[in-house]
Amino acid sequence: MPYNTYPYELPPLRYPYNALEPHIDAETMRYHHDKHFQAYINNLNAALAPHPKLQQLTLPQLLSGRFELPGQQKSAILDNGGGVYNHTLFFNGLSAAGRRSHMPQGELAMRITKTFGSFEAFKRTFNQQAAALFGSGWTILAIDRQKRLWIVNLNNQDTVVPKNLRSLVAVDVWEHAYYLKYKNARADYLNAIWNVLDFPVLER
Ligand code: MN
Repeated sequence: MPYNTYPYELPPLRYPYNALEPHIDAETMRYHHDKHFQAYINNLNAALAPHPKLQQLTLPQLLSGRFELPGQQKSAILDNGGGVYNHTLFFNGLSAAGRRSHMPQGELAMRITKTFGSFEAFKRTFNQQAAALFGSGWTILAIDRQKRLWIVNLNNQDTVVPKNLRSLVAVDVWEHAYYLKYKNARADYLNAIWNVLDFPVLER
């Protein structure tokens, strides 16, 4: 997954805003990508503007948090940097329903079956965990250095980077990801998202 570096720019969507209908509606995509994601980009650039040395670091290097700054300045970089990192994964990992395989293939399919019993059991566990996340955050299927799979809940814009994990599937469980269409029914959004997760892209 290539991430750009400072000054960060909004990565364009790989598909039209309405491509994920009816599972994720065009209006949600427009606000989520053009307003929310753009705000994380703008705020990260603003937070890094006074710190030329930190501008040289890659996004994962920043997110590891191994730099010294007064609390609020550091939080602004980690929170908004996390927003850029997570949303890059999220939008990149989606594609139109029915166009491609929305089931994992090959090695990932094998590891999911080995870890969770079946793809259906994995989806159930993932959705239960995402439904149980209190407040705003992310549910992630991540892989560790020993290639073991983990379903991880993250609060707000925390990332898997400090946990030494790589994210495979990142599902945004902030209300802004689903509220326009699904209102308070997070579970319906979570059921729908499997129709638009693009496993060939996620596995690369
Ligand atoms: Mn979001």
